[in-house]
Amino acid sequence: MENVKRIPEIFGCRVFNDDIMRARLPKDVYKSLSNTIATGKEIDASIANIVANAMKDWAIENGATHYTHWFQPLTGVTAEKHEAFISPVGNCKVIMEFSGKELIKGEPDASSFPSGGLRATFEARGYTAWDPGSYAFVKDGSLYIPTAFCSYTGEALDTKTPLLRSMDAINLQALRILRLFGDQQTTHVSTTVGAEQEYFLVDRSFYERRPDLFYAGRTLFGAPAPKGQEMEDHYFGALKPRVSEYMQELDEELWKLGINAKTKHNEAAPAQHELAPIFSTANMAIDQNLLIMEYMKKVAGRHDMVCLLHEKPFNGMNGSGKHDNWALSTDTGKNLLVAGKTPAENTQFLLILAAVVKAVDDYQDMLRLSVASAGNDHRLGGNEAPPAIISIFIGEELEAIVRAIIDGKAYNAVGRAVMNLGVPSVPTFTKDTTDRNRTSPFAFTGNKFEFRMPGSSQNVAMPNIVLNTAVAESFRQFADTIEEAKDKELATVKLIKDTFTEHQRIIFNGNGYSKEWEEEAARRGLLNLPTAVDVYPYLTEEKNIRAFTSHGVMSRIEMECRKEILLENYSKQINIEALTMIDMAMKNYIPAVNAYIAEISGVAASKMAVCPHLACKMESELIERLSELNLRAYEAVKTLERTDKKAAAIKDALKQAQYYRDKVLPAMEKLRRSVDEMETLTAAEYWPYPSYGDLTFGIQG
Ligand code: ADP
Ligand code: MG
Repeated sequence: MENVKRIPEIFGCRVFNDDIMRARLPKDVYKSLSNTIATGKEIDASIANIVANAMKDWAIENGATHYTHWFQPLTGVTAEKHEAFISPVGNCKVIMEFSGKELIKGEPDASSFPSGGLRATFEARGYTAWDPGSYAFVKDGSLYIPTAFCSYTGEALDTKTPLLRSMDAINLQALRILRLFGDQQTTHVSTTVGAEQEYFLVDRSFYERRPDLFYAGRTLFGAPAPKGQEMEDHYFGALKPRVSEYMQELDEELWKLGINAKTKHNEAAPAQHELAPIFSTANMAIDQNLLIMEYMKKVAGRHDMVCLLHEKPFNGMNGSGKHDNWALSTDTGKNLLVAGKTPAENTQFLLILAAVVKAVDDYQDMLRLSVASAGNDHRLGGNEAPPAIISIFIGEELEAIVRAIIDGKAYNAVGRAVMNLGVPSVPTFTKDTTDRNRTSPFAFTGNKFEFRMPGSSQNVAMPNIVLNTAVAESFRQFADTIEEAKDKELATVKLIKDTFTEHQRIIFNGNGYSKEWEEEAARRGLLNLPTAVDVYPYLTEEKNIRAFTSHGVMSRIEMECRKEILLENYSKQINIEALTMIDMAMKNYIPAVNAYIAEISGVAASKMAVCPHLACKMESELIERLSELNLRAYEAVKTLERTDKKAAAIKDALKQAQYYRDKVLPAMEKLRRSVDEMETLTAAEYWPYPSYGDLTFGIQG
């Protein structure tokens, strides 16, 4: 890259980051603001005007004319409404203004965003509130201010509000645990997240001729290409020059936005790639992931490619996920998921590990729910992604330690000390000592947990909201118990042992893809919820409402509304897919096959006119088979139309989603089968849409 030398210069150049704040704000204002950022506490209103003004000046210097409150409604994509800085001063003149009030609070009309019924109960007005913990940035001539989005009465209408609340909740409870271990220094514990993003790239000319990719984000038809991913030659393979140029430009754009895009490589499926940033605080990491997705698409356009973020763009090939790496770190710079060298720290580590194990077991349903979508259903449970069953992998060594604790035995690996309280001391963990189990949905990878179920297109706020809340709940129960105990050390040791004993069923170090595991998981009583529709109702189980409300993360009504939205989105998505299929089949596939049949019939007729003795075996066989398949396709369209109409008329959101899953999806599958077989029998020049081969191997050069 010719700009290599410039990277440190351009990194973060479009971000109102800590350096810029320090340079541009009066010392006391800077101090107060950075305290707010570090602790998530409310901003002191008296400094807002000064911060807003500094932001505006900096943004204008960087080409901005507008500002926008940037938020994450429950549509799955970000939203923004731009306001110019201009303010009239009479005499047809304007000045550029931006007040503290405008920075802190916006009032967009909330009535056109999904609310799951909240609108009926509350006012249509909504407001956005600045999240100082995620840096503002300049993009396309506007100052972007990351915000949370609520109804006027304070109900969250977005993904960020509950995320911030969950970060507060875990901070509160984690501090109680740290105090019990004598840590008086730490004043804040934050959740760190690193989201690895998978994606596909396809050539734009092919994409544009695939309405299914355009409308549904995935191919709804397509016979497999002769070659897929079976040669395993794409994973980590050499980057094609066109892809490499794309990745370079993408990195540069992200670096300007202060996003630490670090790793890039080819993924398992042809045309599939991955980008991993360096982790940061959860709210910032999630904002950045949304920007990464946006720029993946935007930059692809500049290279005549299209970036597909759908969980399953192509049947028969790996889908895309988003590994959510999660850990807890203190403001004193410690990662709480690193087992320290001293016994006290080890006990603390074991207690935290026990808290996570308990959280994952107690809230399997919510974790599964946090990744459930129509798109991700194609992935989870397939033979590529984690199964739909939640379990936790902790590595061989830790498992042996946990086993020893449960059995009340000493853990006697060579060279490891055994603590007198019966808790074996844990060696410092480095990533390399944990065996990488790629089939586990939730794996401890040395200093963080890696949740591998999230889908590539989703906002990963929800998985982190659930993790934070579930672990906060474990911490709370632990702290309550230990704080009350006379002998705190003894109580801690007992708690660790009891917790591992009670929740050992969730620990699984074997092959998560195997049939045996499904059976074993059933024996252990673990939940196996293969589809999104199976899991959405769990959102309003009393146990979950209790946990989420008691930590102030979501209210009952917010949870009920979210369930409605999830169910509605599921149904809408399948409906779009069904309509797209009907359209493609009736307008192009069926007529194309008819035209081809007509051509073969013409050929056969001419042949027989010249040489009447010719039987035209090939022609008649093809005509027969294609006619039969085309009729079948036509009938499948009719059935699909009927079922889709019926589904659309169902009023109850759960029943409707169930109907889409149980009736519409199989009808779609039936139509696809006929069409895909016809593809294998029809001359290429007659086939109306680009093939799987074009789409997955179409990027050359
Ligand atoms: P891989 O999963 O491919 O082995 P790495 O171990 O390098 O990759 O990390 C994957 C992701 O995990 C990266 O985005 C990285 O920044 C993130 N990560 C590393 N440490 C932490 C942490 N303490 N908290 C959250 N994410 C982390
Ligand atoms: Mg990973």
